[in-house]
Amino acid sequence: MQLYNTLGRRKEEFIPLRPGKAHIYVCGITAYDYCHIGHARSALVFDVLVRHLRQSGLDVHFVRNFTDVDDKIIKRANEEGRDWREVAETYMAAFHEDMDRLGVLRADEEPRATNYIPQIQSLCARLIEAGRAYATPSGDVYFRVREYGPYGKLSGRSLDDLQAGARVAPGEEKEDPLDFALWKAAKPGEPFWESPWGKGRPGWHIECSAMSEPYLPLDIHGGGQDLVFPHHENEIAQSEAACSCELARFWVHNGFVQINAEKMSKSLGNFKTIRDILASWLPEALRFFLLGKHYRSPIDFSPEGMEEAEKGLQRVYTSLLEARKALERTSWKKTPLPAAMQEEWAALPAAFAAALDDDLNTAQALGQVFSQVRIVNRLLEEKALRVSEAGRDLLQDFLARARQWEASLGLFGQDPAAFLADLRTMRATRCQLDLGRVEELLHMRAEARATKDFARSDALRDALLQMGVSVRDTPEGQTWDME
Ligand SMILES: [Zn+2]
Repeated sequence: MQLYNTLGRRKEEFIPLRPGKAHIYVCGITAYDYCHIGHARSALVFDVLVRHLRQSGLDVHFVRNFTDVDDKIIKRANEEGRDWREVAETYMAAFHEDMDRLGVLRADEEPRATNYIPQIQSLCARLIEAGRAYATPSGDVYFRVREYGPYGKLSGRSLDDLQAGARVAPGEEKEDPLDFALWKAAKPGEPFWESPWGKGRPGWHIECSAMSEPYLPLDIHGGGQDLVFPHHENEIAQSEAACSCELARFWVHNGFVQINAEKMSKSLGNFKTIRDILASWLPEALRFFLLGKHYRSPIDFSPEGMEEAEKGLQRVYTSLLEARKALERTSWKKTPLPAAMQEEWAALPAAFAAALDDDLNTAQALGQVFSQVRIVNRLLEEKALRVSEAGRDLLQDFLARARQWEASLGLFGQDPAAFLADLRTMRATRCQLDLGRVEELLHMRAEARATKDFARSDALRDALLQMGVSVRDTPEGQTWDME
């Protein structure tokens, strides 16, 4: 597999450091609020990376941490008059709920900062011992950035650039404005742990270095693009200065999510949590939408984009449903399939895998899925092919391939009829459609048809159309969808 490495800024062949095994560490959330769509994207990108590497036969060990003590958590707890631990527990549970709905697999390990205090303190002590860090009289511990030669290698920033914007805040006892905190002395009323430097709590960066240490060197360290600097740069400095080994072979970062072409922020009022979105859209539609673009490109969330995603899913699930129906017959003819169709069909799984092997190009992999759906639809439309043994084999193969897609992408794994029914309900909810009234009109129309009262049946069809509902008559009865 070719994977883009932020360290070096180019695609490189991914070769696991230990044969057959890969250690992946991704920075998780700070648990002080509900997850937004940017968190969803990051979680999905690494979910698909893990799934794909597992599908390729690797034994993947996947770690994603929780930051469960932090300024933001303490601030929120104080604002709400709650215990900071309770705030962190609330939003860690919400993270699991949201990610489960999106089909994000649980990590193999989910370490929390507060469970790693001894390891964090030991790492601070080793860095002080090595002269890489120092404790101040008031009990903070800082990393000496200027004396760490490789600093800036991930983000490409030079010390001079950083120096220009750096200031020591009043009351800080830093030797140099560039130095960053490993351990923070507790302010009154804040949570604290006893330490050799007095009562305090860990800085944000040090926790990831402590939690990833058992697995060094990592094959892949990942996170959102916003973590490259300073978080990941600082993780590298801490871990590599303390262990004299590489922290991670590959650094993988996903791009931003914008909302209607604007940066998402609370102040712009366009902030979208996963929960906001899932009130109006199916989780699988959000998953499909976010995987529809290459993970390094920015992606623009919009209702139009989500509608496109729904249509894409509808196309695949409709073909899966029709294929299942076609496979219900018991007698089959000997007609062969056209050679070109056979050839194209045989080549597509390799093209799907190749797309994911090319820096996890999910957009292209989805394109390969649609090429397969087109072949299936062509086959289903031609009776001679649909009832042939060769056609049956292809349709069975289609269903098996859909299980592969679900394993790699986490898409197309639901029961097709159930998905299509959920989609219809979700669309109806968005249009505030009166579902009870629709059922009533459909029932009346079925009765009219039974008594061959076609004028009334047509009038009822028009009434439904007025509500935005189109009715179709099939051998199994009426079906409907939103116009
Ligand atoms: Zn981290």
